[in-house]
Amino acid sequence: MGSGCSKKTTDTTLALTPTTVSKPAPVPKTAECLKSVCVAYLKKLKLNIKYFNRKRNKCYCASCYDSTQPNVLTAANTKYTVPRGWVAFGIQVDNAFATSNKIFDNWYTTFFGTSKDKLEDIIRNRFIPFPGDHLLSGGTFVLNLPDQNHVYTSPSINYASLEHVCPIDTMTIDGTSYDFQVVLQCKQNPADVQKLRSGKPKVCKYLSDADLQWKTDQRSSVVPTHLLIRAKKR
Ligand SMILES: [Zn+2]
Repeated sequence: MGSGCSKKTTDTTLALTPTTVSKPAPVPKTAECLKSVCVAYLKKLKLNIKYFNRKRNKCYCASCYDSTQPNVLTAANTKYTVPRGWVAFGIQVDNAFATSNKIFDNWYTTFFGTSKDKLEDIIRNRFIPFPGDHLLSGGTFVLNLPDQNHVYTSPSINYASLEHVCPIDTMTIDGTSYDFQVVLQCKQNPADVQKLRSGKPKVCKYLSDADLQWKTDQRSSVVPTHLLIRAKKR
């Protein structure tokens, strides 16, 4: 009997052991870099390669951009989030325009969440179009937003990638299924930018809700400089 009780205690301890061990989920020391997966996705989008400038590509995954590096940077004395977890593909910017307007010195850095079907039109246009704009492709730029008279951006990648403006596209690459999102990182003319309270609270842990949603009615004032792609394993 005594040995039975003792055995029972031992069994219980053993039974608990696997639970106790598996509870703290192992944290991978180096996250897997998904740059090659994002490159494969970009190829599938079949965008004209001439739009891109490989010299300005940069991966912000946890391996390539580690936790000791800043979460927030400043452009034109204004904070914006580093797009952690995204891969940035440099977009060709008109040199004369960039130089004469000093966009890399004096303009804000902002993010514009979008979907893959709009990328070709926007990048070819060189500026974020306004809803209803006639495009070089012969089509019309359509955004299903209540306000059709402004372009909306955000200094926060977290706000710009909310799914209602930045839908998830699921695709299988080399036998693995991923959820992809696309955002355009832009330089934005500081003139006539209205900064509004976030429509959703606590979306970004780095920037204040008070002025997370920006809008402008200025044409040619938001220039895409990078296509950001994020892949998440399903
Ligand atoms: Zn990486």
